[in-house]
Amino acid sequence: MNTSDIKKLYDQYLLGNYAPADLCLVKGKGSWVWDVHGKRYLDFFPGWAVSGLGHCHPKVVDAIRDQARKIIHIPNNFLNLKQAKLAEVISEASFPSKLFFCNSGAEAVEAAIKFARKWGNPQGKHEIITMKRSFHGRTYGAMTATGQKKFHDGFEPLPKGFKYAEFNDYASLEKLVSAKTAAIMLEPVQGEGGVRIAGKPYLKKIRQLCNKKKILLILDEVQTGMGRTGKMFAYEHYGILPDLMTLAKSLGGGVPIGALVVHNKIKNVLVPGTHASTFGGNPLVCAAALAVFKVIRKEKMAKRAAEMGEYFVAGLEKLKESYPVIRELRALGLMIGLELDCEGAVYVSKAREKGLLINCTQGNVLRIIPAMTTTKKEIDFSLGILNQVFAGEKNA
Ligand SMILES: *Cc1c(COP(=O)(O)O)cnc(C)c1O
Repeated sequence: MNTSDIKKLYDQYLLGNYAPADLCLVKGKGSWVWDVHGKRYLDFFPGWAVSGLGHCHPKVVDAIRDQARKIIHIPNNFLNLKQAKLAEVISEASFPSKLFFCNSGAEAVEAAIKFARKWGNPQGKHEIITMKRSFHGRTYGAMTATGQKKFHDGFEPLPKGFKYAEFNDYASLEKLVSAKTAAIMLEPVQGEGGVRIAGKPYLKKIRQLCNKKKILLILDEVQTGMGRTGKMFAYEHYGILPDLMTLAKSLGGGVPIGALVVHNKIKNVLVPGTHASTFGGNPLVCAAALAVFKVIRKEKMAKRAAEMGEYFVAGLEKLKESYPVIRELRALGLMIGLELDCEGAVYVSKAREKGLLINCTQGNVLRIIPAMTTTKKEIDFSLGILNQVFAGEKNA
């Protein structure tokens, strides 16, 4: 089958809520992927941040294979060894906490929202404040929490009780807080929102506000978690702890898993019967996630992300000097955004033609989030392609 045959199947049998590029990937190894025609690409947007250890990391592949031979799924009304172990590992890598496992980022956010409501309702608190330009997922709760109108349009009526503050603007947040506020939720670095990094004093002030007013602080680390920003979790850059934290994306090294992490100081309200997931935290995905953690820790991946990020940014700074179309460069570890003076889509497709996969968000922000396993050689290769693309567009 070639790409156009596959497209025909898409046209006939898929709903069409995606607009895939003319590219069918069938193989991956580390930061490299191959299409059906055998063409190779450097993947610097691996799975929208899912493949944090690159594609098909051998340790993750082995863990999945071993577990699949033993047992793939058991329901949550029986004890699950792998789930218990993974909860221990995540709790010990973050803060004293208890966990709930699900299958995606949106579900982790959904669990956080339900937790906050169940926690807040007896105190007369139900409102959740999130940020404009945030992204929290596509289920009703997570979609409503997402502070971008374009994701809401046509899906009304939306669940009630959500308010939106300007990101990185403490005054705008403070104005929305009331006796009804149950939780404030934000991403330490807005990913879909254009790689916007929360300021240090800003996040610290939010923490203090939450302490003072007895509001839950929910950090959505679905994209920033697991080493990507140069720390295991992005909150470590800020010297604060969340009350609730959501994880997903790179947690499973490619298999679908999400988690809600709840600090032990918060009274657990998700008692039996209040929340559940059939697939959530099954042995297969937990075995994969355990392998992911092992690799991140043993091979000091967070530190590596910080170092590679620094190296990448130095190269991108040079590009920025040469090409004024690059308005701003924002980065934390290997979470990198290049804000352009113009639409970015053409840069993404030109880069793809030349063998480099990156993303564009918010219309004009090129988003680059390489696997933490990437090398200086690969980064140099990508810089070469980006240089060609910017030079080509300049003369176009
Ligand atoms: C991707 C993302 C989500 C949603 O995750 P899904 O697995 O697509 O449901 C939620 N929050 C953040 C910060 C994300 O980047």
